[in-house]
Amino acid sequence: MDMNAPAGLPPSLVGTGDLFQHLRDGTPRTRGDLARLSSLARSTVTARVDALLVAGLLRPVGEAASTGGRPPSRFALNGGDRVVVAIDLGASHASVAVSDLTNQVLAQRTVESDIADGPTAVLDRSAAIVQELLAELGRPVSDVAGSGIGVPGPVAHASGRPANPPIMPGWHDFDIPAHMAQHFGGPVLVDNDVNLMALGEHVTSWRSDRHLLLVKVATGIGAGIVSDGRLLRGALGSAGDLGHVHVAGAANDVVCRCGNVGCLEAVAAGPAIAARLRAHGLDVESSQDIVDAVTAGDVTALQAVREAGRDLGSVLATCVNLLNPSVIVIGGKLSEAGEYLLAGVREVVYQRSLPLATHDLRIVGTAAGSQGGILGAAAMVIDAVLAPRAVEVYVAQHLARSA
Ligand SMILES: [Zn+2]
Repeated sequence: MDMNAPAGLPPSLVGTGDLFQHLRDGTPRTRGDLARLSSLARSTVTARVDALLVAGLLRPVGEAASTGGRPPSRFALNGGDRVVVAIDLGASHASVAVSDLTNQVLAQRTVESDIADGPTAVLDRSAAIVQELLAELGRPVSDVAGSGIGVPGPVAHASGRPANPPIMPGWHDFDIPAHMAQHFGGPVLVDNDVNLMALGEHVTSWRSDRHLLLVKVATGIGAGIVSDGRLLRGALGSAGDLGHVHVAGAANDVVCRCGNVGCLEAVAAGPAIAARLRAHGLDVESSQDIVDAVTAGDVTALQAVREAGRDLGSVLATCVNLLNPSVIVIGGKLSEAGEYLLAGVREVVYQRSLPLATHDLRIVGTAAGSQGGILGAAAMVIDAVLAPRAVEVYVAQHLARSA
């Protein structure tokens, strides 16, 4: 007997959570399909499917019961059973969404919100928006299965506490999960915004590519790594922090905000490009200004963006040799400058990486765009609440209630 079985779950239903994983992709399946996929006896499958139907995790699909009371024969994930909260916090905005268990956004609102207001103010502001969205959807707070939160800084993912985040005064070591648990039930998972962008891009556009690298290029530069289908966070959660990797050949007079010279961020992020353009007499301050100048066809601007792409490419060439991703997605504000940034990246990556590593490599712009963080936050929570063990706990609770 499984010593980890949740209290109240009959031994015959241990493994129900594993069977459920075959329905996670939303494709309707019959008992026969499930028996084949799981190598379980038909009677075992039937008992587990019944338990999942009773718990509301599955819904019948296709023809309704005939006169004999025979139950419908196909089942799919019941995405509307519960909802998840997804919050994407930026330096100056908060994007808040309520999504279903298939990661469809049901309601969303983005407001101006200064991260420097501190954790209590920012989280309570976000929670109030969630309450409004739930009310608009007519869903009770008890429908919330869990919350996913992205923050613009490093996070110890296991504890959900930010770790010395540079642009988040007052947030260091703040217990975000404990605070959010005052508002909503279920797990509260926290990660940095770039990791969640990578996850969001992976689950929505590149599900079959198990190895993906997302690079966010904006005021700073960071990367999220999906390796074998999972986020690679590193020992302390700082994996993917590419901004302060030294760029070979970078001028030694370029001092980074971290104090070192020649960091990728100091030569290729928004402020560095803007400074270069100002030296050429352009009136450019923000990343948006750079995008506008490129879109307007300013030759100096598009040359500068392409050059930033080459610098980025020289660092990514090393990453490609190290991680062998099949997709590199370039996101963040500067990716809106279109093909010029991508062209610079491609130029150097294909030249400097090993042929085997670039054989199937695609380097593309983001598809999820600014929604990546929300989609990734929801995906992170959905993965937790629909994991085998969590499903069995949920089923056991329903059995106890209906007993
Ligand atoms: Zn630096």
